[in-house]
Amino acid sequence: MNIPFVSFEKMHNEIKDEVLAKMQEIYEKNWFIQGPEVTAFEQEFAAYCGTKYCVGCGNGLDALFLALKAYGIKEGDEVIVPSNTYIATALAVSYTGAMPVFVEPEEKYFNINPADIENKITDRTKAIMAVHLYGQPAKMDEINAIAKKYGLIVIEDAAQAHGAEYKNRKTGSLGYGAGFSFYPGKNLGALGDAGAFVTNDKELADKVRALGNYGSDYKYHHIYQGNNSRLDELQAGVLRIKLRHLDEWNANRIATAEKYYAGIHNPEIILPEKMESVKHVYHIFGIRCERRADLEKYLYEKGIGTNKHYPIPIHLQEAYRDLNLAKGVLPIAEDISATELSIPMYYGMTDEEVNYIIDALNAFK
Ligand SMILES: *Cc1c(COP(=O)(O)O)cnc(C)c1O
Repeated sequence: MNIPFVSFEKMHNEIKDEVLAKMQEIYEKNWFIQGPEVTAFEQEFAAYCGTKYCVGCGNGLDALFLALKAYGIKEGDEVIVPSNTYIATALAVSYTGAMPVFVEPEEKYFNINPADIENKITDRTKAIMAVHLYGQPAKMDEINAIAKKYGLIVIEDAAQAHGAEYKNRKTGSLGYGAGFSFYPGKNLGALGDAGAFVTNDKELADKVRALGNYGSDYKYHHIYQGNNSRLDELQAGVLRIKLRHLDEWNANRIATAEKYYAGIHNPEIILPEKMESVKHVYHIFGIRCERRADLEKYLYEKGIGTNKHYPIPIHLQEAYRDLNLAKGVLPIAEDISATELSIPMYYGMTDEEVNYIIDALNAFK
């Protein structure tokens, strides 16, 4: 059997007619930027997240960067980021001129360890990036309490957690503002690059919108040296259709995860843990194995696609050599990056496929 790491086939087949009709409608309307689809999606996505405002952006990285910039994060500032995340979280900080300061994750949940945040706070610290990695919300109560104590803002990187919940509240509504990515492989994905910023702060939302639109508050009037990072009509039109299916698609991922939990019993394999207080939406199902290379090769030979999130931790990437963080300084992130293996997780996996993967994992020696 051949099972890819990810497939959009079933999802996209089910909504094909609706999506193509929407694309044709926009094509015939000849309105591609800053039009009614974007406005409607922004309203619908804000309502979905439980926030007052949503600003469409060109991608998730820009949503995070523009949020930090709008808040006034700049050179000389420090921002706390988890050491175990996709590089975009750190780059959003670096783009402002500020320095990302890495904090280790909790090994069983993969997310930032609140107990280690205070050790890294200095008088330059301005913000905390709370990443909901793999679809599981970070420990927001603890993070928000620390932020309050030190007068910091919390920006959620919700790029992997559309529809996830922490104590019955949706990601995006758990901090001061949140960046989402609609990269095609995310739980809510566009047909290209797209992103959004959500918040309850009108001033911040207006500033992010202006910064992503050449620093313009109204046409040909520029109050900032802004960027160009806008959501476009075609992507917004597609996202509107997909948003209506998000809960159903997430429920399907959760059902697959439950089958994995119930079925995988191999002492060589460590399963990811889910916190009690959350709805985890399993953007990624990351198992861990000391003999990861062997497991990867074994699954490949059985026709099962896998991936690693992420094979090189950010502090050891060439791009961040200036931080002078040698191997060994963030041992938990390094250990996760050496042992994590992501197995197939996407909407529409059949029982036959899931059982095949479970059986293969249980037979691994
Ligand atoms: C995907 C992702 C981003 C960036 O999103 P893009 O739309 O690709 O720019 C940021 N943070 C995390 C954790 C991500 O997974």
